[in-house]
Amino acid sequence: VWSNCLKIIKDIVEWQHYKTWFEPIKPVELKDYILLIQVPSQFFYEYLEEHYVNLLAKTLKRELGKDARLEYRIMVDSGNSNNKPLTMDIPANNIKTYSNNEMDFPLVINNPVKNPFVIPGLKKMQIDPQLNPIYTFDSFIEGDCNRVARRAGKTVAEKPGANSFNPLVVYGGVGLGKTHLGQAIGNEVKRLHPSKVVLYVSSEKFINQFQDHSRNNAINDFIHFYQLIDVLIIDDVQFFNRAERSQDAFFAIFNHLHQSGKQLVLSSDKPPKDLDGLQERLLSRFRWGLSADLQMPDYDTRIEILDKKMKNDGLDMPREVVKYVSYNINSNIRELEGALISLLAQSSLNKREIDLELAKKVLRNFVKTSSKEITIDTIQKMVCEFFDVPYDKLLQKTRKREIVQARQITMFLAKAFTKNSLKTIGEHFGGRDHTTVIHSCQTVKDLMDTDSLFRENVMELQQKVQLAAM
Ligand code: ADP
Ligand code: MG
Repeated sequence: VWSNCLKIIKDIVEWQHYKTWFEPIKPVELKDYILLIQVPSQFFYEYLEEHYVNLLAKTLKRELGKDARLEYRIMVDSGNSNNKPLTMDIPANNIKTYSNNEMDFPLVINNPVKNPFVIPGLKKMQIDPQLNPIYTFDSFIEGDCNRVARRAGKTVAEKPGANSFNPLVVYGGVGLGKTHLGQAIGNEVKRLHPSKVVLYVSSEKFINQFQDHSRNNAINDFIHFYQLIDVLIIDDVQFFNRAERSQDAFFAIFNHLHQSGKQLVLSSDKPPKDLDGLQERLLSRFRWGLSADLQMPDYDTRIEILDKKMKNDGLDMPREVVKYVSYNINSNIRELEGALISLLAQSSLNKREIDLELAKKVLRNFVKTSSKEITIDTIQKMVCEFFDVPYDKLLQKTRKREIVQARQITMFLAKAFTKNSLKTIGEHFGGRDHTTVIHSCQTVKDLMDTDSLFRENVMELQQKVQLAAM
């Protein structure tokens, strides 16, 4: 059936177009009046639907009669590096199911409408925005580490194209939320402005698509397609460094979209000024908008992120475990989530409640040092940071009250948390003798009884040291 169709199509369509758009199609299965075909990409499917739906309908009906229907199966590569199945926005009339969570999984689009060919040429291009609905602003916890980027992202989503953050460039190391934020912007635009054409794409995928089209002499189609987008989100633009000609295409698309008041959102692993291998003309355009960084969240924000994750997944763990994990994982958020997942896996595998013991065991695979020997030095640094006191002042003979107190607390903690002798502790404070240390410890105990703020501070520090020692 399909080869008969192709014969007809071949005569009608220009040879180049035929090669590009029809040769790659693989017929998969014919059931009753339904022909299932496999196409290489989402983009491909959309292009066919847009440009050749009538032709396909006519030829297929000629072969199979008036009840003929066409179904597509798309090889999708998810632009999502987490190996999670992508749940996609479902365009009207399409039901999609996806099977496994490998990087390339077949995505079946079943068209339950009686006669899909009757759908008239869609006015607005209908494209799958490639958004994963779990990545929202709501699930993106705000902290000092990401406040500017998150808020700029919200503004962009509320008024795409009509704000001064165009392009919005979000940069940060691995696992710090670039993809999540980019996707959240896309999802929010779709929520607030459903008719806007949104597309999320990784630069790798963009480059691959470009190269495919380039091989097929269809660069104009490629650029044309991208120029129809209202909000274009390109993830990990640092990978453009290996693809000079893709940069040219990107440059053309960027200019067109920007001039037409369309929104661009880009992410990269470094600030734009450090993006080696990207054309200067591109980098200068990145500076037109706003660049905002994503940092590793601090301890409290990490706790919030874990809490949010657990709440979303309907999980619970003892507070001390949440604190322990948050304290010890300080590389990136993906690792933080990884630790949580391992913990859950270990707990269900061993049919054992999650407790600190298990957490320590699991985290041994995540953090380099566990059960650290806490040193006087470490405690000194923690106290200095806590009270914002310079390190050298702590050791000198300053008589200023807050410094004296900080020094006394440090000695007290050193006595409680290290195995050092009073003499050694004294030596770590610019050669004071052991009676000074005894006196300091006594003073701290006394003050804790009488001064509640002082007591709170010491308790908080104790907790910090304790966590560091686990
Ligand atoms: P990147 O793209 O920068 O490598 P991702 O966006 O993939 O990082 O983030 C890694 C993981 O951390 C994802 O599961 C994401 O949901 C989560 N994450 C990142 N930032 C936050 C945040 N601020 N709040 C909650 N979860 C976050
Ligand atoms: Mg990413």
